[in-house]
Amino acid sequence: MLYQSVAELPAAVPGVPRVIVIGAGAVGLYAAAQLAARGREVVVIEAGNRDLGRFAADSFASEGRAHTGIRIGRARNLGGTTSLWGGQLVEFQPIDFAGRDWLPGSSWPLRYEDVAPYYLPTYRNLGMPERILDDNEVWRGVSGDRPYFGPAFEVFLTRWMPVPNFAELFEQPILGDRRISVLTGHVATGFRGTGGRLTAVRVAGENGEPHWIEGGLFLLAAGTIENARLLLHTAQDLAWPVPWRGNPNLGRYFQDHLGGPVGSVHPADKRRFFRMFSNLVFAGNKFQPKIRLTNEALSRQAIYNTQAFFAFESEISEHMVYLKQFLKAALYGRKTAGMGELLRRSAGTARYLLPLMWKYVWDHRVFVPTTAKIAMHVQAEHAPRPESRILIDQEHKDAFGLPRVILDWRLGGDELNSIRTFAVQIGEATRSAAIGELRIDEDLLAERPEFLEKLGDTYHQSGGTVMGASDQDGVVDRNLRVFGTENLHVLGASVFRTTSNANVTFTAIALTTRLVDHLTGEDSSAVRLAQPLRACPEETRSSRAAPQSTTAAPALRARDLPRP
Ligand SMILES: Cc1cc2nc3c(=O)[nH]c(=O)nc-3n(C[C@H](O)[C@H](O)[C@H](O)COP(=O)(O)OP(=O)(O)OC[C@H]3O[C@@H](n4cnc5c(N)ncnc54)[C@H](O)[C@@H]3O)c2cc1C
Repeated sequence: MLYQSVAELPAAVPGVPRVIVIGAGAVGLYAAAQLAARGREVVVIEAGNRDLGRFAADSFASEGRAHTGIRIGRARNLGGTTSLWGGQLVEFQPIDFAGRDWLPGSSWPLRYEDVAPYYLPTYRNLGMPERILDDNEVWRGVSGDRPYFGPAFEVFLTRWMPVPNFAELFEQPILGDRRISVLTGHVATGFRGTGGRLTAVRVAGENGEPHWIEGGLFLLAAGTIENARLLLHTAQDLAWPVPWRGNPNLGRYFQDHLGGPVGSVHPADKRRFFRMFSNLVFAGNKFQPKIRLTNEALSRQAIYNTQAFFAFESEISEHMVYLKQFLKAALYGRKTAGMGELLRRSAGTARYLLPLMWKYVWDHRVFVPTTAKIAMHVQAEHAPRPESRILIDQEHKDAFGLPRVILDWRLGGDELNSIRTFAVQIGEATRSAAIGELRIDEDLLAERPEFLEKLGDTYHQSGGTVMGASDQDGVVDRNLRVFGTENLHVLGASVFRTTSNANVTFTAIALTTRLVDHLTGEDSSAVRLAQPLRACPEETRSSRAAPQSTTAAPALRARDLPRP
């Protein structure tokens, strides 16, 4: 149920410790639904309300490399940033967890084999039908050939969720499962505890009055920047010397993906190119074809993980953005400024409606006008560096007593060379496969550092509370538990040591599935949600779970691998 005041919350059942989840975004709502489905009493505390909300402009600042996501890539409302996101799900690859000697700080305390078994149950819990999870099946279903770029590359598909807003996706568990209580409009500002055990969280509503909510288990799921902000703030609490006080890693290793165009594409045959690389529609789901190097090729070349995709820019692109925003606002009954303007601009798509529908229904593709210009974009991993960090400014506090958060985003590894090496190989592959010509940005080709200024962040904020082997190495352990505590776990991409080339949220949710299994001692592949979701999961085969390991992988060493 939804509550707006602490007084309304149902009292804890004596002897039944409640799980307190801080943040009702992607991982917070998912964790709450999973835990309630397994019989746990859960209280979710959400700073925002039902309508789309933002963080107050004076509650954050960006120093160092410019970062737009801190301002426009976060939402403060029920559903969190899923009310803004695209909902593209992508898995990480083995190399992302392996620890690479050409990428210092990349070693995770768990391996791909520890995470991979949780991808399938996570798809299933998110209502993604299993028949759409095999790329070959999808290509067959849309009567298309999977493009081939040579043995060093993989063309893979990302999958969009049909119901991306988690407030909508989990509406039934939130409103219909009495084991979940969601307190909106309340900000978590502190913790109480003894030794390593948390006993309560302090929350404040709009009037600023503090309340304590007791629990037995605490899951911090406030988003990358707010996770670090709350832990950094409470580390200075004089009332209880929290176990994470003095952890040197707190706030460090902030990362995002570097994203943006790296060149223009001039296809040999435009129609063929569009068939290969426009977004696909199959079984009611949408997919985007993307390109990455194989793990073997990345290791051989000792470069960071990068993906490429093609963006089609035409006169309808802008109208489509407005149409999507309008439809989302209308669908979720959200109040948003400028609805009239949105509707007026959406009308620009009217004359394309027929080709759009024909392409969608008959050709299983999203329509792209033949006049469209094509740009190749990258989404690139960057080096995890301790100097790239989230800090707090105790001099400036908000109405809830939380300090202003300052983001100092920094690069400084081998990003330029990695992106250039990747782009040059794609250029060669497009030419030799007779797909077309890629004209790479001159600054990138010449490896001018200015090129990196042309790339922005991609709203994939990660790090700040990274996973480590010990408190000298990270903030949380392999089970996401804050070092030194018995019952505080951190959810979300803030625990990532590295970011892969893949969008981060699906792996953050899969790690949540893994944690819920760990906490409840149950096997997620055998569990169904208590309440059906809006997008009904299809009947599934048994899990493709791989055996679990308990040790970290040895680092991959570039020098041990043959050079091309
Ligand atoms: C435009 C856009 C497109 C994106 N597309 C994709 C995509 O396609 N695929 C992908 O993987 N990722 C995508 N992302 C990123 C994705 O949205 C985030 O990675 C994801 O939502 C993070 O989930 P989270 O639960 O950690 O945080 P959030 O979803 O941000 O939720 C955190 C919640 O915690 C609440 N909160 C914060 N502080 C407190 C506090 N002190 N007390 C109580 N509550 C608090 C916030 O109000 C918020 O509701 C996109 C992001 C944007 C902006």
